[in-house]
Order: sequence, then C-alpha cells, then structure tokens
Amino acid sequence: MSEFALIDSIRGLTAQARDDVGLGIGDDAALLEVASGQQLVACTDTLVAGVHFLHGTAPTDLGWKSLAVNLSDLAAMGATPAWALLALTLPHADADFVNGFTKGFATLAREHRVALVGGDTTAGPLSITVTALGTLPTGSALTRGGAQIGDVVCVTGSLGDAAAALRLLQSRANVPDHLLAALHRPQPRIAAGQILRGVATACIDVSDGLAADLGHICTASGVGAEIDASLLPVSNALAQAFDDDTCRALALSGGDDYELCFTVPVPSVDAVLAQLAGAGCVAQRIGRIVAGGRVRVLDRTGNPIDLPRQGWEHFTP
Ligand code: ADP
Ligand code: MG
Repeated sequence: MSEFALIDSIRGLTAQARDDVGLGIGDDAALLEVASGQQLVACTDTLVAGVHFLHGTAPTDLGWKSLAVNLSDLAAMGATPAWALLALTLPHADADFVNGFTKGFATLAREHRVALVGGDTTAGPLSITVTALGTLPTGSALTRGGAQIGDVVCVTGSLGDAAAALRLLQSRANVPDHLLAALHRPQPRIAAGQILRGVATACIDVSDGLAADLGHICTASGVGAEIDASLLPVSNALAQAFDDDTCRALALSGGDDYELCFTVPVPSVDAVLAQLAGAGCVAQRIGRIVAGGRVRVLDRTGNPIDLPRQGWEHFTP
C-alpha cells in the first residue's frame, strides 16, 4: 500500500460530518470554525511502541487509546472535543494494521463526534501522535492552578486497574477483562469535565499516577494535599487480583488511569458528586487541600504512609 492509499483508507473509515469543518483531510491544512465566545483548546500526546504500550498490542486498541488519552486531556480542561489530527509512523505500509487502528480510533471518535481533519503518515519505528482540539466558553476552562486550602480532593472512577493489567500482562498472568479494558479502552471523562466547569477549583487527568498528578495540582496552586488511603477507589477486579498494599500502591502510583482528579470547595461537594453520578460518572472524596506543597497519604489513624515511586517520568533512569 502507498502512503496515499493508506491516507485514503483512514479518511474513508473516519468520515464524520461536522459543519464547523471548512476543509478537512486532503489539502495542506484544515480549516476549522470556532464559534464566537468560545476558546480553542488544544493538546497532543504521543504513544511510542515499547514505551507507552507493549509490542503486539492490538491495532484497534491502539487506535482507541491514542485518541482517548488526548480526549482525557480535553476532559480535564472541561472542553467539548471537536477535531483531531493523527501523525502515524509505521514500520511498514501494513493495511491490516491501519484498518484495525482506524476502526478503533473511529469508534471512539464517533462517540464524541470528533472529526479527523488531518495528519501525517511516515515510515519509521511505530509511533502514534494525536492532536485533539476542542472548545469551551471563553474563560471557563478548568486548570491545575486554582485549588484552595480547605477544598475537598475527589477522583472519578477507580484507580490502578490499567497499571494492574500491565503488570499481569508483563508477568504473563491471566488478566481479568475489567482490568484489560481499563488498560486498552480508557473512557475519557468528557461529560464529567463539563459538569466540573464553574464548580471545581482545579482539575487534572490522572495519567501518571494519582499521587504524581495531584502533585501537579499542588505545584500549580501553591498548596499541599492529604489523601486518605482508605478512601482510594479500587475496583473489585483489582482487589481480587492483588493484596491490599499492592492495590494501594497501584491506585496511588500506577499510570494510565485517565480518571479526573479535582478539587471542590466544601459547600459544593455533595451537589457536584450527585450531578456526576447522575451523568453516569461515579466520583468520590479522597482527601483535602492543605497548606504546604506536598502530597501526603494518611492511613486510617491519620499517620503518613510512605509513597511508592512518584509516577512515570521520561528521561529519568
Ligand atoms: P503535506 O505533504 O502537504 O504535508 P500529506 O501528503 O502529508 O500533505 O497529506 C495529505 C493530506 O492527508 C493532508 O490533508 C493531511 O492532513 C492528510 N493526512 C496525512 N496523513 C494522515 C493521517 N494519518 N490521518 C489523517 N489525515 C492524514
Ligand atoms: Mg506530510
């Protein structure tokens, strides 16, 4: 297959009508309409074979996940996704790979009405870069920077499932479906992000482990945080697969959760958690914002627990 045949097949499988696309795939660049009073929200994320996913991962899962991790960033800002670009580097012009990849990508894109409007296709070691674009009312974005001392720290969904799946895969153990789905098919919390706009004081998506990502909120907001270890949301599948200490370590420091961690003033917590639950996204309190600059994890009696390693960092040996 030639480069252009690959692009045509990607284009054919991802067709998504949006009247704010003036010009999509096929020219030198796309033309997109942002409604007045709206801000454009832009993010990009790369998945590299052997770094972000195991060699041999199913192409459909890669297609889904490469878009999902980007939509998760848009969710953390409170944005509504609209468009995406896809830079695909492939070792071979493998039609089966592109077909499977594009189907996975298109399935999630359709769920959120995202139009693929451009990209690049090159030969080289397998690597996928997606750029996602969305919009929100000007000035309404959630950021990492607004957490206030006394705010409640909450998180959506459950934590540690994807990291548990990866650990089991690497040890060639049997992986329960629920954990596998968390690793390969993360659900970006788009609806939750929109509900949190105007209510949450800070928000981040948990991609590098809860403790590390809550640490980013603390740094940006100039505050500290305490997490109650007993409140960490752990799925039944995770609890059945590992002992309590391992579950806690995975929930605190495993990566790839793609849940939202956010802070809310005390008077708003009950209402926002109820609204999230009503939208099908269970979230719960896990701690509080305090003075200082660090994330501390407390046991049932309020004593600090040593944190395992603080999330994933590239370039750190
Ligand atoms: P140029 O040489 O001008 O960069 P290309 O030949 O790389 O253009 O791409 C032709 C068209 O196909 C462009 O509109 C580009 O955005 C689109 N395109 C290329 N690769 C992809 C891809 N993987 N996914 C979506 N669109 C793509
Ligand atoms: Mg090009």
